[in-house]
Amino acid sequence: MTITIRQDKSMYPEIGLFIDGKWGPAAGGKTLEVRNPATNEVIGSVAMAGTADLDRALAAAERGFKVWRKVSAFERGKVIREAARLMRERAGRIASLLSLEQGKPLGEATIEVLASADILDWFAEEGRRTYGRIVPARASNVHQLVVREPVGPVAAFTPWNFPVSQTIRKIGAALATGCSIIVKPPEETPASPACLADAFKDAGLPDGVLNLVYGNPPEISNYLIPHPVIRKVSFTGSVPVGKQLAALAGQHMKRVTMELGGHAPAIVFDDADLDSAASLLAAAKFRNGGQVCVSPTRFLVQEKSYAPFLDKLVGHARAMKVGDGLTEGTRMGPLVNERRLQAVEAMISEAVAEGAKIETGGKRIGNKGAFFEPTVLSDLSPGMRIMNEEPFGPVALVMPFATFDEAVAEANRLPYGLAAYAFTRSLKTATELGAEIETGMLTTNHLGLALPEVPFGGVKDSGYGSEGGSEALEAYLVTKFISQAGF
Ligand code: NAD
Repeated sequence: MTITIRQDKSMYPEIGLFIDGKWGPAAGGKTLEVRNPATNEVIGSVAMAGTADLDRALAAAERGFKVWRKVSAFERGKVIREAARLMRERAGRIASLLSLEQGKPLGEATIEVLASADILDWFAEEGRRTYGRIVPARASNVHQLVVREPVGPVAAFTPWNFPVSQTIRKIGAALATGCSIIVKPPEETPASPACLADAFKDAGLPDGVLNLVYGNPPEISNYLIPHPVIRKVSFTGSVPVGKQLAALAGQHMKRVTMELGGHAPAIVFDDADLDSAASLLAAAKFRNGGQVCVSPTRFLVQEKSYAPFLDKLVGHARAMKVGDGLTEGTRMGPLVNERRLQAVEAMISEAVAEGAKIETGGKRIGNKGAFFEPTVLSDLSPGMRIMNEEPFGPVALVMPFATFDEAVAEANRLPYGLAAYAFTRSLKTATELGAEIETGMLTTNHLGLALPEVPFGGVKDSGYGSEGGSEALEAYLVTKFISQAGF
């Protein structure tokens, strides 16, 4: 079975498993329905792997690793860059499928595909710079070499919010370093990541180096992570699941990268450009319906600016055009599914019952599709669930603060530490924040995260390891020391 992606947006491919360079159904014949979140209608199906399929994928990844690790980084880079070129050429079709299955506006989907091609280009180049070193020895006839080698076959688990870019970050780093990989992309949005496998196949990647399996997530992770073939685990998703998978990987001594949730503070000081802060933060908040791990969530605004900032943010939220991602002019699509919508709704109604005020939004839109209003809440208190758990939806929580120390204390209050944002005209404030905020990433006066060449990752419960910059490659490399005497 091959994956056929038709130009007609109403047609959706049946998605199989990609194992050893071939698409095929699951051995047990099981499939899962895929729905369009804008209509809740079934649009297709995805194969569900059983253990026989996973065994085939493991054997393929083991063979693929033996082949790929021997290919020079120079040649590997050529294949990866060709896959990037094919992704750009096919961006229209991939983005349409992504928008259809995930809900995000077509423009956002297109940017995700093109940005993912850039990520691949960067990894292709950086993979050529995984140098070792020579350490001067104590004896003149001894050579001491430190070499970097690919860790081995990787098991990667990627989420539905950025099914293309989160998948490409893991594939790109693994392939650039010479690893093979089995990816379990999200079952909610399987077609757009499937296009990535096609791009690599068409770019000439040897069979077995990249494998895609879909199915029951816990069954697959419980089978792959302990398996002796797998040497490295990479997961993007929620904190509770990340902790389970990290514990399992720890029991089996597997290397791990964890990119988990966040509850990003966005701190707006009185000396900030309020117009710029409100417009940039609103765009970031409602991008992908707030279903973004680095989404600004707790808006901490210094007292004098609180009322005007709130006013501006509410204005932006009200102006946000919500609709089907494939309809022109849509700025925010539906949430990914009914389950996510209900989770967001429950968090908001609990907060309101405990005294929070809805400044705008707060409800679902219509009764068909998972549409939710861009929402701004005020009068919040630290005990509310929404102030402690990631809402992962289009909800901005706005609260005032008086002093720098108060803002830092609130920003650092939670166990999360993924992204943080600040707006200030004071270099002193920006510098001190850089030192005080417990976060993996901090941007001031702009939103400049997630570029291929810079680190992307968190601290505390938000995980460990990085998915960007040269640090991303480190995670897929092991160090070998070789000492040679007798020259
Ligand atoms: P969820 O925790 O059920 O699933 C999140 C992702 O993890 C999904 O892709 C799912 O397939 C996968 N997953 C779940 N259990 C797994 C397991 N045992 N083994 C392997 N993969 C597993 O939550 P959800 O309702 O789908 O998503 C909402 C929550 O997920 C959010 O609150 C957010 O914290 C988190 N999330 C984070 C990111 C991120 O970019 N860090 C992305 C998507 C979801």
